[in-house]
Amino acid sequence: MGARETDVPYEAARRRTFAVISHPDAGKSTLTEAIALHAKAISQAGAVHGKAGRRTVVSDWMRMEQARGISITSAVLRFSHRDTLINLVDTPGHADFSEDTYRVVSAVDSVVMLLDAAKGLEAQTLKLFDVCRSQGVPVITFVNKWDRPGRDALDLCDELATHTGLQPMPLTWPIGPAGEFHGLLDCRDGTMVRYQRTVGGATAAQEERLDPAVAAAQEGPAWSRACEEADLLDASGGGFDHELFLAAEASPVLFGAALLNHGVRHLLDFLVDFAPAPRPRVDVAGRPRRLDAPFSAFVFKVQTGMNPAHRDQIAFARVCSGVFERGMVVTNVATGKPFATKYVQQAFGQQRTTLDVAYPGDVIGLVNAAALRVGDTLFAGVPAVRFPRLPRFAPAHFAVARPTDVGRAKQFHRAIAQLHAEGVVQVMRSQRRGQGSAPVLAAVGPMQFEVVLHRMEWEFAVPVTLEHLPYTVVRRLADPSQRPLVDTGWRSEVLMRDDGTELAVFAGQVELAVLQRLHPHLKLDHLVGGVD
Ligand code: GDP
Repeated sequence: MGARETDVPYEAARRRTFAVISHPDAGKSTLTEAIALHAKAISQAGAVHGKAGRRTVVSDWMRMEQARGISITSAVLRFSHRDTLINLVDTPGHADFSEDTYRVVSAVDSVVMLLDAAKGLEAQTLKLFDVCRSQGVPVITFVNKWDRPGRDALDLCDELATHTGLQPMPLTWPIGPAGEFHGLLDCRDGTMVRYQRTVGGATAAQEERLDPAVAAAQEGPAWSRACEEADLLDASGGGFDHELFLAAEASPVLFGAALLNHGVRHLLDFLVDFAPAPRPRVDVAGRPRRLDAPFSAFVFKVQTGMNPAHRDQIAFARVCSGVFERGMVVTNVATGKPFATKYVQQAFGQQRTTLDVAYPGDVIGLVNAAALRVGDTLFAGVPAVRFPRLPRFAPAHFAVARPTDVGRAKQFHRAIAQLHAEGVVQVMRSQRRGQGSAPVLAAVGPMQFEVVLHRMEWEFAVPVTLEHLPYTVVRRLADPSQRPLVDTGWRSEVLMRDDGTELAVFAGQVELAVLQRLHPHLKLDHLVGGVD
């Protein structure tokens, strides 16, 4: 064993790998900046995401992304806070493009769920809570924009408990209603934290700590109300319980205003003190892979064309065990082929740096790794290890794809297969449509179709047309012999995925209900949590 192998337990224990997930506009980019600012990854907010045209600064790798100003792909921001190494895995924040976000959940050890104080839980956030729960990923809730008028803090916690089943455990509580933000009650020691405003949130906010008696004298009713509300939650089981958090049964709640950097330090400190460090990942045989076993990792994202100067492909892999050293030869379990890792990078936005060593919890970017696919396991040494494939998510949008130039059918099928393998879109077949018919593309969000259109035209030179299908209700067909019942139904059909899953899709609830009335023995399963 080289010196570095013996470092693994220490290095793994001081890593925190997490993602910030939210509904668009809740403030994810702003919070990312604020976190990085506190952790001194950058000296001034705006360096990661420029204030003007923020999104284009973060990831301007794709023309479409620039044109629409949305962030489609993920990368990683790495920094240290109190001797802990933090990997913040960025997620696409667009409501319509969520399959990538779901996959990121599989690659992190905890998630910060960001809520807008005025909006609370939005549909997108709820779906993501489901995904986190179904994968057992602990969730920290950060209620943002408390400097703006918004909802009642207790109401928001109620909503969290009712809709997610997660017990809210406040760590900080706002003093003053949303829009009259006086500071925070630190629920752990009962003191008040007051902030000095900084110009435009460009530097970390100065904090002042006040004893409870001083806070009571200065803040009057706002202080006593905050204490009463926090006590109320505490009495109903909302006291902090580390085990419940790690078991993804309760969610610590913090309040703040990312734009002003208020409440952000508490979030970071919580991540360092209580968020889980990397834990052994279970392989397909159900055996946990020890952190100090030889190197292993799995690919959770493949991205093409990040560098506009020359179109390249980068595969992001999460290290699960051992030490990764640049240049080492690893094996891709899917192909059984060895694979040299000369070009490895850390990437966030435009800045890429070469990475030499990585430990469990780190994310490595393998450049020009054309053979790598989402879900692939990489390993070194013997014996081989294979991690379970990443969950695929229940699609909600369907379209038939056809090449505009029928003479390019072969290139069309090859390109579609590649997009499927990369996880850009799911490709399905329908018996009803017949053998050799055009494939049906299925997506979690319609943005995925736009990526397909764009890449087919610009990257593969096979422009396609999409015929959108009207399906909105999706079930799993439990008994394949019942396929004809659905295929002959009114505005419904069965779509088959390459892994054998058969999805029964319906234009709406009415069509589903009619078919069920006609065939009461038809067995259809719900897709729990949007994940199959
Ligand atoms: P994202 O889409 O989730 O990444 O959201 P952004 O970080 O781009 O923020 C959306 C908008 O909300 C921007 O105009 C931000 O300036 C604003 N914003 C973010 N955090 C706060 C906050 O704490 N207070 C206020 N008042 N505005 C905020």
